[in-house]
Amino acid sequence: MSAPDPSHADPTCIFCKIVAGQIPSRKVYEDDEILAFHDIHPIAPVHFLMIPKRHIVSMAHLTEADAGLVARMMLLAPKLALQEGCEPYPQGGFRLVCNNGAQGGQEVHHLHMHVMGGPRPWRIG
Ligand code: 5GP
Ligand code: ZN
Repeated sequence: MSAPDPSHADPTCIFCKIVAGQIPSRKVYEDDEILAFHDIHPIAPVHFLMIPKRHIVSMAHLTEADAGLVARMMLLAPKLALQEGCEPYPQGGFRLVCNNGAQGGQEVHHLHMHVMGGPRPWRIG
């Protein structure tokens, strides 16, 4: 597994620090370009984040060259959801959320997808 290119990291970004191992995380999955880890404040019985290892600020910063990356993240979501304890579709399933910008509720400005699932009720996020 190759290390992420540090030229694509923002030294002030907490998710870049998680990618670099400078902030600990409970990892769910890792490959050359994607990292998934448990959210520190889960609002559902299963709640993890999927991020590109490269510092991409938001969906507004994606380019055509990122189409494969985004597709791979979306294809990964249902597999990791099952792995982390979500029940299968249709009784189980999961919610995929990607907050973008201030009005979109984005607090960490490194692109991430929330994967949430498990029995309800969930905490209000
Ligand atoms: P946003 O509101 O930007 O979509 O979500 C950011 C998420 O990152 C929040 O759910 C928050 O709990 C999570 N988060 C923030 N800082 C950390 C951290 O240091 N470690 C982990 N594992 N999650 C974090
Ligand atoms: Zn970052």
